[in-house]
Amino acid sequence: MTWHVAEEDVRAYARGELAPPALWSADTHLARCAECRARLARLADPAALAAGWDRLDAELDAPRRGLLETLLVRFGVADHTARLLAATPVLRRSWLGAVTAVLLLTVLATHSTRVTASPTFFLTLAPLLPLAGVALAYGPVLDPTYEMTVVAPLHGFRLLMIRTVAVLVAGLGLNGLATLALPAYGLGALAWLLPALALTATGLALTPRLGPVLAPGAVGAGWAVLLLVAHERTHGGTLAPFTAAGQGVAAAVAALAAGLLYLARDRFDTRTPGPRPRPLA
Ligand SMILES: [Zn+2]
Repeated sequence: MTWHVAEEDVRAYARGELAPPALWSADTHLARCAECRARLARLADPAALAAGWDRLDAELDAPRRGLLETLLVRFGVADHTARLLAATPVLRRSWLGAVTAVLLLTVLATHSTRVTASPTFFLTLAPLLPLAGVALAYGPVLDPTYEMTVVAPLHGFRLLMIRTVAVLVAGLGLNGLATLALPAYGLGALAWLLPALALTATGLALTPRLGPVLAPGAVGAGWAVLLLVAHERTHGGTLAPFTAAGQGVAAAVAALAAGLLYLARDRFDTRTPGPRPRPLA
């Protein structure tokens, strides 16, 4: 180590008068350099020294921003919003990894069963993934940041929308990548998009009425039933939801559900604010 804290900086540090950024480099250096700590100890009055260590402690204990959070802040997302988004469980690597694995398997299965010449299996499954993601992004069961969302200065609906958009973008992006892996089907392989939006919006619109578990569960089950019925009716052709008419219905359902969701927005804010936690300092 060739650099040491300058004598006048050590004196200023000891008096508690050293200002950033010199303060930060002194803090960092003092943590590693016994020699400078000894110089400081000779100069320092004990109270100022204790304050310095407290500051250093706090800096070392401060949670570090992850990659996602850093990116969000860089793109102008407010600090607390970025923290909430980065802590959204479904945006963590484990969830994204699971979704990616499901999509990969689906794409492989679709490629291996090309006899039917339609990506039905993929189209059936893909709309469910954003629905499940959004459902898991909200609600106390799986969300370790639930307490934080209760005290956060954001309305429940606003937070829900922030998370929904983030999870939707991630889910739709992954689905889109999977679609690129099915070039043989052309635009037909994109027929999952409108059903995905319709299912997600319907699940959210039903959440104030049915709760965060039952609502997406019922919507997912409804999708399965719809596909089974469509399968019975069509004999080898394109299933009804993936025809042009079906896509139109999906778009209408998505728009209707989004409208209902907006009308029900106040019902996401029913939690009465509890006592606010005291500031630590
Ligand atoms: Zn030193």
